Amino acid sequence: MRTLPMALAGLVCLWGVPLAAAQSWDISDLKVDKPGDKVDVKVVPAPKGAVVLFDGKDLDNWAKADDGKSKAAWKLVKGDAMEVHGGNIVTRRKFDGHFKLHVEFRVPYMPDKKSQERGNSGVYVQGRYEVQVLDSYHNETYKKGECGAIYEVSSPRVNACKAPTIWQSYDIEFWAPRCEDGKKTEPARMTLYQNGVKIQDNVKIETDNTRAGLGGDVCKPGPVMLQDHGAPVQYRNVWLLPLVS
Ligand code: MG
Repeated sequence: MRTLPMALAGLVCLWGVPLAAAQSWDISDLKVDKPGDKVDVKVVPAPKGAVVLFDGKDLDNWAKADDGKSKAAWKLVKGDAMEVHGGNIVTRRKFDGHFKLHVEFRVPYMPDKKSQERGNSGVYVQGRYEVQVLDSYHNETYKKGECGAIYEVSSPRVNACKAPTIWQSYDIEFWAPRCEDGKKTEPARMTLYQNGVKIQDNVKIETDNTRAGLGGDVCKPGPVMLQDHGAPVQYRNVWLLPLVS
């Protein structure tokens, strides 16, 4: 009878230690290549005409990706951010045509993890084309799977990553596929800036759906989807500006 509480205590301890060590927001022991790698990007306010998708106040513009309707379960953090929790989320609005999508994100420090297990998330444009989010600061992984990759389509031209826990930005200029009579005649294209550095330049995306995307008819609008890949990645200040082709 006496051994049971001790066994339980042991279990709690075993569970607690790896959970506590798996991720952190403290990088005081991390050596950086240059001081700027530890400096957050500045918040870029939504310009006139932009659709604000997340401003830190609530998750009203987002739903669970499973059904596109249920309330998103992600956590609100510090009054300006949201954190991955409980599955992928999608915007309630869908988008088409030519637009710029601005996203700010930061990945936790997960020194015990490697490759795709370190700070993985993703921004799926139209729910179909994933711009990979990953801790690619001193973290090798396979080609076309790095932070800033269009997943399994195109590697970033350079590594423009900041250190984990530091706020970074994506500015994604996107052209939806061209269609005639409901049939795709030209693929989607994307230009991507990470922290102000151009890392993808007018890349043609020949696939209609990157891995784990929502798929569907590429001639129809799609939402912005943010990925839950098991790491507590955070996002803030998400907006989309429709552009004229
Ligand atoms: Mg991902």
